[in-house]
Amino acid sequence: MFKKGTKLYSILSGSCPKCHQESMYTNTNPYNLYEALSMHEKCSNCKTKYKIEPSFFYGSMYVSYAVSVAFAVAAFVIAHFVFKAGINMVFVSIVGCLVVFMPIILRLSRNIWINIFMHYDKNLVKK
Ligand SMILES: [Zn+2]
Repeated sequence: MFKKGTKLYSILSGSCPKCHQESMYTNTNPYNLYEALSMHEKCSNCKTKYKIEPSFFYGSMYVSYAVSVAFAVAAFVIAHFVFKAGINMVFVSIVGCLVVFMPIILRLSRNIWINIFMHYDKNLVKK
């Protein structure tokens, strides 16, 4: 399921949505905060331009809302059902989780967003 060629692979690894050959990001570590959202302009393998239009990635904010909610729900479930935390601790866990995972949430959202518009093409893969 996480193999190259699946959308999930591109979304989780942040690789080029068309050829899956290289990362879209200049730094593969999202916790390097200065470069968290710094992306290559195009894929050096298949020459795909990541920014389809100038404000293309603004749309990923809608996705990041959904992804944040998913993380918040996961934090709630773990804090409430696994650790039996009280309401204050549950709240702290949710906020803490969103802050800690923010770089990952932002990247995941961009990856999901771009994968809605671009699809894997195995003909672009370097042999
Ligand atoms: Zn590519």
